Amino acid sequence: MVDLAALLRTTFGFEGFRGVQRQVVDRVLAGANTLAVMPTGAGKSLCYQLPALAMPGTCIVISPLIALMHDQLRAAEAVGIRAATLTSVDTNQAETRARFRSGDLDLLYVAPERASSEGFRRLLGEGRLSLFAIDEAHCVSEWGHDFRPDYRLLKPLMDAHPDVPRLALTATADAHTRADILTQLGIPDDGLIVAGFDRPNIRYAITPKANTARQIAALIAETPGPGIVYAQTRSGAEKLAGQLAATGRPTRAYHAGLDPAVRARNQADFVASEDMVIVATVAFGMGIDKPDVRFVAHAGIPKSIEAYYQETGRAGRDGDPSVAHMFWGAEDFARARARLNEVDEARLAGERARLDALAGLVETPGCRRAVLLRHFGEDPPETCGNCDNCLNAPGVIDATETARKLLSAVYRTGQSFGIGHVEKVLTGANDDRIDRLGHDRLSVFGIVAGEEAGLIRPLARALQARGSLVPTEHGGLALGGDARAILKGEAAVEIVVPPKRERRRRADRSA
Ligand code: ADP
Ligand code: ZN
Repeated sequence: MVDLAALLRTTFGFEGFRGVQRQVVDRVLAGANTLAVMPTGAGKSLCYQLPALAMPGTCIVISPLIALMHDQLRAAEAVGIRAATLTSVDTNQAETRARFRSGDLDLLYVAPERASSEGFRRLLGEGRLSLFAIDEAHCVSEWGHDFRPDYRLLKPLMDAHPDVPRLALTATADAHTRADILTQLGIPDDGLIVAGFDRPNIRYAITPKANTARQIAALIAETPGPGIVYAQTRSGAEKLAGQLAATGRPTRAYHAGLDPAVRARNQADFVASEDMVIVATVAFGMGIDKPDVRFVAHAGIPKSIEAYYQETGRAGRDGDPSVAHMFWGAEDFARARARLNEVDEARLAGERARLDALAGLVETPGCRRAVLLRHFGEDPPETCGNCDNCLNAPGVIDATETARKLLSAVYRTGQSFGIGHVEKVLTGANDDRIDRLGHDRLSVFGIVAGEEAGLIRPLARALQARGSLVPTEHGGLALGGDARAILKGEAAVEIVVPPKRERRRRADRSA
């Protein structure tokens, strides 16, 4: 029997297992099929690397990204594990095959496409296998956010080796996706091991956009240490990096459009830096190991709660206090909902549910952490004391009446105008376009006044987040989701307004 503790210490230099690692490793060594759901940074690699060393034969690691595979290969070789990758860009494929056949590899990293190749199937029969490790296993599910059809070929491939245990690993899987992974990869229900998802040292905050560059500059000013700012597009990342350079902190951009040498240098400089801000698209962060990231900011919404968790999870891996701050706008949800129109039927329900869950996180007056953890199937306390809403409770107001006026105005103006025009109609503005269109003769003209007028914009934002207002092709707004139920008085609309202190501060500033 191999002394695991000794192996852990001598090969990896770790004092002990962390979290569920021991549980996962024990199951794998017992030959059972397993799905380990562990958050980013929890140490998934060890769960297959250690068994790979402890068991005779080669562990086949399925991984979806070549760049990630090469990072992992370097990391494995650095601790003395005999490993290789078999990908389209590797020039040493013949050598790697020979090493596999002669039992000279502990780990063999391959892309899922290989699973369908006859040559690879044959190769597997020519060596000795210890384990199948399926990284980023959510790619096997259409419910997952990153479906890769090639992952579906893994089960038949593994079925040809019934005595070789399977270990599927993912950081991001809601209950639905998990169940699907178990089925698609042939893992029994009791093979599911879920690690705790809480990252208590991360303070979550989510704020509507109001000059995002200035908001993020303020965050940078009050948060020393390295930080990541996620932008939605390459040009957005470039522009924001330019604006944030004025903070005086070293600032770099990172996105797939940059020259590879520049990108690599920016990444390396960031990893080495103690105060750099990197403004990146979501391409950044996968496979980088920088424990002291002090903040992650989102300039716009992420793709899903899973993506948010993963991206914010790059903050504070050293356990020290860190901040995750998202800045969002109605246009983010408008764009995301418009994209749903292009999603094919099979994935539509999943995509829509993901967006609704994200809107729920953004719009909640309650604890952000509780929403996140519940999403991952945990049963957290109602409050955490370390998110914006717990630290400074926002106000919640019933805005159903105003919502009905707003939706009605959208409807009566023909569901083709943006919020600017609709607001003018509602507040009875004196406006040429309104006169020309005869919108001053509508029953909704001028029916909102005084303080209520201040609710129109936040309400429109909330209604877009929840899908009751959806974008038209030409940038207007139309009724969607539960809009009709709201109009009929069958659904209520509550909106979150800034905490009292914040409201007072704003009022002081504008005075
Ligand atoms: P994941 O793939 O889950 O995001 P990694 O496998 O990359 O996580 O591990 C994250 C970090 O944690 C790495 O720096 C790794 O060396 C470290 N780590 C993993 N297991 C342990 C352990 N038992 N003790 C200490 N550090 C560990
Ligand atoms: Zn909280």
